[in-house]
Amino acid sequence: MAAHVMRVPARAAVDLHLHTRYSDGTWLPSALFDFLEGGELRRGSVADHHHLAHFPEGLAPGAERGIGVIAGTEVTTVWRDLPAHLLCYAPLPDGFVGAALSEVIDDTTAQMRANTQLIYDTLLARGYTFPRQAELLADLGGTPVRARDVAALLVGHDHTSDMRGAMRIVTEAGYQQICAPIEQAVAAAHSSGAVCLLAHPGRGEGEINRYTIREIEGLLAEIPLDGIEVYYPTHTPEQVMAYGTLAQRHHLLMSAGSDSHGPSQRLPISCNARRIAPLLERLGVKVR
Ligand SMILES: [Zn+2]
Ligand SMILES: [Zn+2]
Repeated sequence: MAAHVMRVPARAAVDLHLHTRYSDGTWLPSALFDFLEGGELRRGSVADHHHLAHFPEGLAPGAERGIGVIAGTEVTTVWRDLPAHLLCYAPLPDGFVGAALSEVIDDTTAQMRANTQLIYDTLLARGYTFPRQAELLADLGGTPVRARDVAALLVGHDHTSDMRGAMRIVTEAGYQQICAPIEQAVAAAHSSGAVCLLAHPGRGEGEINRYTIREIEGLLAEIPLDGIEVYYPTHTPEQVMAYGTLAQRHHLLMSAGSDSHGPSQRLPISCNARRIAPLLERLGVKVR
């Protein structure tokens, strides 16, 4: 593996929130870094949902193209019945250490797979058939992993016309969002050497909660978060200002990311390294 580049110019672009096919994205790591190569981006983090195992595949294509990759993952957690996406980043050069975070992730993944199996079995019992399953889920070895894989089967077999309708059927068949308790996920991430940030607090759509400043302050009073994702494509300038002010008041790290999942969806962003320098420095990247 190529050596990590440990320095980045203050004006270089960074994006610490990218997803690939190792979770629910459609980017192949090589295609993602092909896209990024030649642009301004010099530091990225592939923060796949509930996933730690594939960093070598993410690091190598980044390093070959001069883009440093910081190990990250995004864990779906819950705080007082409110879903909270938690970004965990591990410092260079070691990455995540110990087993604590991977145990939380493995447990959450097992529950998610069990729920997906329940949905699938329920649909079969209701008379749905999926003769093209092996072909449609070839990437997954033919087996649905997430609820949206079952939804894709429903659309692929014309049982419904779109993913929205498919997710309604999936929900009626017993879909549940699987969340780790946030205190457990944060403690595990810290003991694995990672920093934890609240992802996209201002996003709020579907199953995602839009966090008010008051809610974030309540969360911070109970949970030792290290920071929040301030720069995010759907955050308004007012939200960026409010979350930035909050971060300063509570001495929190700020991060920036696109949440890009694939080339036909939201694309990576370019945020100056200078804006999130304290986080980068904490992760072992010198900003000059
Ligand atoms: Zn998220
Ligand atoms: Zn994400």
